[in-house]
Amino acid sequence: MGEKKSVGYHLPTGKAIDTLMSKQTVTIIGGGLAGCEAAWQISRMGVPVHLHEMKPKRFSPAHEMESLAELVCSNSLRSDDPSSAVGLLKEEMRKFSSLTMTTAMEHRVPAGKALAVDRNAFSLAISKKLEESPLIQISRDEVTSLPPEETAPCIVASGPLTSESLTQSLMTITGKKLAFYDAIAPIVEADSLDMEIVYRKSRYDSGPGDYLNCPMDREEYQYFIEQLSTAQTVPLQGHEEQKYFEGCLPIEIMCARGENTPRFGPMKPVGLPDPRTGKDPYAVVQLRSENLQCSHYNMVGFQTKMTY
Ligand SMILES: Cc1cc2nc3c(=O)[nH]c(=O)nc-3n(C[C@H](O)[C@H](O)[C@H](O)COP(=O)(O)OP(=O)(O)OC[C@H]3O[C@@H](n4cnc5c(N)ncnc54)[C@H](O)[C@@H]3O)c2cc1C
Repeated sequence: MGEKKSVGYHLPTGKAIDTLMSKQTVTIIGGGLAGCEAAWQISRMGVPVHLHEMKPKRFSPAHEMESLAELVCSNSLRSDDPSSAVGLLKEEMRKFSSLTMTTAMEHRVPAGKALAVDRNAFSLAISKKLEESPLIQISRDEVTSLPPEETAPCIVASGPLTSESLTQSLMTITGKKLAFYDAIAPIVEADSLDMEIVYRKSRYDSGPGDYLNCPMDREEYQYFIEQLSTAQTVPLQGHEEQKYFEGCLPIEIMCARGENTPRFGPMKPVGLPDPRTGKDPYAVVQLRSENLQCSHYNMVGFQTKMTY
């Protein structure tokens, strides 16, 4: 603990260092990405961890897998290019021997400059690594309230879909309402694609062609936009406000902002000439593989609140 590291590794200070030095067990609530990484890092320092995960006894409305570190939506962890902010963050995590990064690299699927993973293999591998760690105890139970302060330290990593009772407990302590932006990312089955039309290509040929491209001409695009604007969406619940995260807008909201908005966003056709015509199409839906078998594909940038 006392030794200095030379790779930008900042040791915890103050109360956190006292805790680590005393080797008191750290409680972590939630075995998602954050909770798993925290458990890994703390145990690497020789400190025991008690990780609580409510699955499979209870599932949030979005979680489906029994294993830990489930990616509930996109299988992409975004850019792995260190010249971008998110890529640099990944590089920093690697310097800390991040469990998430190591496992993501082991179960990477082709996605150009993005780091995307086979979500099943990724989640199972993280679960296995944590289960095999002698300093990590995993309890499959729901924590319904925060442990009393004197029994701390405790890390709350229960995510945006924290169970109701724990949410109440957090609201009592913080006096605040908790909120998050919700949308789903549709996945298509490979055998539903017409490969006579769909073609493989990376934009401006900047990669080995990890993306499948579904081209549209003007007429097809306009029909598509018309259908999007009249599609049924999930109604807001009484407590929900109509607020959106600008970095990840549902496709139908983009469309409501202007017919051409998707065409200058996720459906941007530039640098993707259609081999049948040699020209850029009017618009493109890009697909990124969900797994190494390429049996399923994620629609890139197509978060949505449409019903299905
Ligand atoms: C519908 C939806 C779509 C999303 N789409 C994206 C996306 O495309 N890209 C993106 O980067 N992020 C997306 N997010 C955000 C995503 O949840 C986070 O990026 C990431 O999963 C957060 O990790 P986490 O560990 O904080 O939470 P989670 O991954 O949600 O993990 C929290 C864990 O805590 C458990 N838990 C909850 N309450 C309790 C309790 N009381 N006791 C014990 N265990 C509990 C849950 O079962 C879960 O396993 C989406 C979230 C939702 C809900």
